[in-house]
Amino acid sequence: MTVTVDETRIAPTPVGTMKAAVVRSFTAPLELEHVAIPTAGTGEVVVRVEASGLCHTDIHAAHGDWPIKPSPPFTPGHEGVGIVVEVGAGVGEVALGDRVAMPWLGYACGACEYCVSGWETLCLEQKNMGYSMDGAFAEYAKAYARYVVKVPDGVDPVDAAPLTCAGVTTYKAVKVAGTRSSDLVAVFGVGGLGHLAIQYAAIAGGRVVAVDITDEKLELARSLGAEFTVNAAKEDPAAAIQALGGADQTIALAVSPRSFEQAYASLRRGGTIVFVALPAENEVKLPIFHTVLNGITVKGSIVGTRVDLREVFELHAAGKTRVILEEHALDEVDECIDAVEAGKVPARLVFRP
Ligand SMILES: [Zn+2]
Ligand SMILES: [Zn+2]
Repeated sequence: MTVTVDETRIAPTPVGTMKAAVVRSFTAPLELEHVAIPTAGTGEVVVRVEASGLCHTDIHAAHGDWPIKPSPPFTPGHEGVGIVVEVGAGVGEVALGDRVAMPWLGYACGACEYCVSGWETLCLEQKNMGYSMDGAFAEYAKAYARYVVKVPDGVDPVDAAPLTCAGVTTYKAVKVAGTRSSDLVAVFGVGGLGHLAIQYAAIAGGRVVAVDITDEKLELARSLGAEFTVNAAKEDPAAAIQALGGADQTIALAVSPRSFEQAYASLRRGGTIVFVALPAENEVKLPIFHTVLNGITVKGSIVGTRVDLREVFELHAAGKTRVILEEHALDEVDECIDAVEAGKVPARLVFRP
């Protein structure tokens, strides 16, 4: 195909160097460095990053917290949104000047059983932005054209960034939970993910209970559609939610095994808990007897597909969701990581490279 270029919408073909936040060591802060601007190979695009969200996964990546570790040096960032400024050979999915999102699922094989059955997020050949591929904590990022998702007009790129991981991940978690109208859904953890999970659960028709340990976040939860709130620092959330009849679904978004156990204990008979957060401790203790006798379902949910992300953007363009965020310069990356780890961030932090 031929690509028409609207010169007014794009930057000149990038040459030279760019600023990027690079992980050199799992025990050191990120380094702001000048590195070469990537160039697009076959099937690839280069994107000038307009906005790039900070996800807890980026922090785990930078610290090498998980069993499968990235290999430094690498650039984190899997909530990158920007304008396509270079297309490689064979790219037909997007064109120069398109605004696209570069999600965690940076590449999948497209041919395995998972890919062809709508579960590309389980593909064994997958590559992940900001983990096994350089991510978007930079002025430019390279991505596989087939795995970027176009951001529709009417969605602010700064809003689109958190939707690219926090949004799609919680949207998918609500789908996986199977929430239907009048279900009681308990969202554990009201942060970057939780504030969106509350909205998606409400859109699905659920009555939402938000659980957190700070009153400010619970107030935010109420403003976004939570009907009930529980401060887990002041009362036992399982007892409070059982007093409401027990949750049909609970969504575990807080990086604390204790919170997962409370979410489990909040379920009514036949309920479903969805594991989403990835605490570094990596283990929870759940009772087998109670699980069997009460017909409890335990599910894991990892990000979402390209179709899920398109739906997330569609809902946002239709004015049905609100993204709570704070903008920062990329130079502030280390301070921002400290703030997230200290739990001092209202919802999502977004860098403007
Ligand atoms: Zn993420
Ligand atoms: Zn595959």
